[in-house]
Amino acid sequence: MTANAIAQTVLTLRRAFNEGLTRDLDWRKGQLAALERMMAENEAAIAEALKADLGKPFGEACTAEIDLVSKEAAHARKNLRRWNKPQRTGTPLAILPGKSFVVPSPFGVTLIIGAWNYPFQLVLSPLIGAIAAGNCAIIKPSELAPASSALLKQLVEQYLDPKAYAVIEGPADVSTTLLAQHFDLIFYTGGERVGRIVMEAAAKNLTPVVLELGGQNPCIVDETADLAVAARRIVWGRFLNAGQICVAPDHVYVAASVEARLLDELKRAVATMFGPDPKQSPDFGRIVNPRHAARLQALLDNGRAVTGGQADIEDCYVAPTILTEVPANAAVLREEIFGPILPVLPYQTLDVPLAAINARSPALALYAFTRNPQTADRILAETRSGSATINDTVVFMANPNLPFGGVGASGMGSYHGHYSFKAFSHQRAVLKRGFALDASVRYPPFTPSKLSML
Ligand code: NAD
Repeated sequence: MTANAIAQTVLTLRRAFNEGLTRDLDWRKGQLAALERMMAENEAAIAEALKADLGKPFGEACTAEIDLVSKEAAHARKNLRRWNKPQRTGTPLAILPGKSFVVPSPFGVTLIIGAWNYPFQLVLSPLIGAIAAGNCAIIKPSELAPASSALLKQLVEQYLDPKAYAVIEGPADVSTTLLAQHFDLIFYTGGERVGRIVMEAAAKNLTPVVLELGGQNPCIVDETADLAVAARRIVWGRFLNAGQICVAPDHVYVAASVEARLLDELKRAVATMFGPDPKQSPDFGRIVNPRHAARLQALLDNGRAVTGGQADIEDCYVAPTILTEVPANAAVLREEIFGPILPVLPYQTLDVPLAAINARSPALALYAFTRNPQTADRILAETRSGSATINDTVVFMANPNLPFGGVGASGMGSYHGHYSFKAFSHQRAVLKRGFALDASVRYPPFTPSKLSML
């Protein structure tokens, strides 16, 4: 798409916004209902696109993309009137008579840039917030998931109002052209490096940003944990979408006294979920492209593989791999893994993982497995992260009552459920007064008698 065509699209949306197209709440509900229909009527096509881009298993496509988006849209549609209601708030004596309100109002024309690992969810879930709050939006899906990107464009054009919502496809330079336009909010999901580029571009127009970024998510397993359950939940969270998920546990700190048992349980969980040869499993996905598969292959020898350790670059396959004996300075501990590799690191006292966690920028997600509530509380109190889950991984994302987002280098702002609506709303202060009681005390000249009244 040319720069001119992009500018033209932004102009079309801005005109629709200025003319008040998105103001009507029933219209917004209609758009959300259309989005729900879009997901329901195209389940097979969406699953097929995800299979083509990521070898995504059908079950994962249904739960983490189709159902999640459908439920978010239905939740927003049902709550839209309540969320948009002006909130009456108090008015101090000095400015009475008067009525004060906090009124959620749309930003205007917004830009949503998505990553490739959940190509539908990562742009449609923010879009739901944008629609509910009354914004127009341009979606820029990731070029690394081309089948999903093309289908998104086709479906959004077919189901949603093209005067308010558009999909612009293309590589990074299309993002660059888009970012040169004036938007009223930019919602970006992707890596930290590009997050900085987005924020810099937004600064030129004083555009607010929501950044959903990544990093390394730590997981602690102490000696009191149910090791079999912990292992299953860790393996599930780490190897979902072949490890290409921003909230996966990236490395496990385990109490040294139970390390051997945890490694056995992790190995058993991998074999139970994906069989003796995970390459043949219909439930284990592929890496997005050979470049990323090769990047991951280079991390496989960062420790001793307890299970896995194989890669087939041509097939974009990297085996679900558990590593032990990993040196502290290994790349697999420094870089975001974003693939099916899980280093396990023994510790003697809890101070060690806490110090290691706090030596890094706060993670998007932190996990801890323990039966000891004091240990759980200590871990929560002594660390920072976008989210924290005790005794499970990843599932917090399915709760629309919890905000989803990072802190520090893992991002800023949050969304899901009501938080998506808030992310796309400005909280406008509205004070309504009449003309009565126009006390002269606040007006100059400030005579001594007036000053004595203040
Ligand atoms: P990516 O390469 O697909 O990039 C994301 C988007 O940025 C794409 O739409 C791409 O076109 C655009 N982009 C790329 N280079 C750009 C540039 N120079 N200028 C402007 N735009 C540009 O995705 P990625 O960054 O490889 O995605 C993986 C990262 O995303 C990981 O770090 C992961 O943790 C993070 N992620 C975060 C979340 C979250 O919700 N916090 C979710 C998924 C992924």
